[in-house]
Amino acid sequence: MAETAPTTFRCRCCGEEHPGPPLSWAMEAPDEWSALTPSQRRSKGDLSSDQCIIDPDRFFIRGSLELPVLDGDGPFVWDVWVSLSETNFKRASDLWHDPNRTEEQPYFGWLCNSLPGYPETLSLKTNVHTRAVGIRPFIELEPTDHPLAVEQRDGITMARVIEIAEAAMHHSATVPPEKFSTLKRIIRKALGKAG
Ligand SMILES: [Zn+2]
Repeated sequence: MAETAPTTFRCRCCGEEHPGPPLSWAMEAPDEWSALTPSQRRSKGDLSSDQCIIDPDRFFIRGSLELPVLDGDGPFVWDVWVSLSETNFKRASDLWHDPNRTEEQPYFGWLCNSLPGYPETLSLKTNVHTRAVGIRPFIELEPTDHPLAVEQRDGITMARVIEIAEAAMHHSATVPPEKFSTLKRIIRKALGKAG
């Protein structure tokens, strides 16, 4: 049995106790979507919880980039967006409710989010593995020396999970605060419209 995970942690960024550390963080849209103005989104975009289209030729799907946790309950999950070819996006859409979709070959995808707490992660190469209906695809990074790829390969510790939480909560230098807060605000608005 793993030890019970702590329910709060002392944040080195602000000195406060925060709940967690969370074992998952979600990016609610591809960065390209976040960069669009509200009117551009209305005229040429479509965003749901798991799919995004920007006309005429950008197709995105949401998936789970999982990192093994070596000394705690895992995995740790970054919910991220990857771009697919139009062919693969349509195929994934056609097979959305098909129980046999687990037999799909992996789709190639470009990572479409800059994640906090890492060197630039935008445009890392991935393989997108379709899983059972109702489960987001597994995002496998190309096995490079990028720290995120190394973490996926080798796993992370709970100490690193806390470090990620500090970066994600307080918007490390890799993600300017303006960008992060704009993203959250506008996404809520877009989701409200969609719903
Ligand atoms: Zn804090």
